[in-house]
Amino acid sequence: MHPGQVTVVPAPSWIVVLSAPSGAGKTTVVRALLEREPRLQFAVSHTTRPPRPHEAHGQDYYFVARDEFRDLIERGAFVEWAVVHGHFYGTSQAELRRILEAGKTPLLDIDVQGAYQIQRRWPHGLFIMLLPPSWTVLEQRLRQRGDLTDEQVRRRIGQARQEVRWAWMYDYWVVNDVLDEAVETIEAILWSDRHRPGVGPSQGRLPVIPE
Ligand code: ADP
Ligand code: 5GP
Repeated sequence: MHPGQVTVVPAPSWIVVLSAPSGAGKTTVVRALLEREPRLQFAVSHTTRPPRPHEAHGQDYYFVARDEFRDLIERGAFVEWAVVHGHFYGTSQAELRRILEAGKTPLLDIDVQGAYQIQRRWPHGLFIMLLPPSWTVLEQRLRQRGDLTDEQVRRRIGQARQEVRWAWMYDYWVVNDVLDEAVETIEAILWSDRHRPGVGPSQGRLPVIPE
């Protein structure tokens, strides 16, 4: 947590957080999930990492310079932020507000440090960790993406082993072996979680039953 941050965004009635070690297939799963779950909307993060080919500003990330990111931190613009693989990443209050005002549920694709901050703030959120079927498959998927050197792949695997140690913090663990099965499992989790008291359509402590 970063004490002193001002809450300007209204508390979401529901928020979905998905984390995974790099290469586990999060981008792929999120894309499939968004197609099938129109009530979810992807929360576009700010980052200081340079864009990869095919990544678009405002769609995949808001790509900003380090100075701008630091300035945004100072101004309390983020609900959470962290340094991941040497770059700054953060979810802005403005982005969450945009999604909530559109009447949608924010889907956050963030790392374990960010998930921890969100959980402290909104414990009623749904926290899912996506896992690779094996370390061997994780390595294959990282290499297959083709944008990392051998050394970077080794470092990501090391980092992944650390991230998985935080898995206890999540509500659900989903193994991304067969893609469709992983997506269907997450859909089932979303479906049941919406029926928890206090989330989904009944946002208070009492159920809302029309007269
Ligand atoms: P992340 O966003 O977690 O870093 P990506 O979604 O970019 O991971 O996936 C890494 C690689 O693994 C990509 O080449 C992707 O096509 C592949 N991939 C993702 N999920 C699966 C799956 N269930 N089965 C096989 N390959 C997958
Ligand atoms: P990538 O650079 O591969 O897109 O993402 C690297 C890592 O940063 C992933 O684990 C991703 O979930 C995480 N990440 C992306 N956006 C955010 C964010 O806004 N906050 C935090 N804490 N992590 C993020």
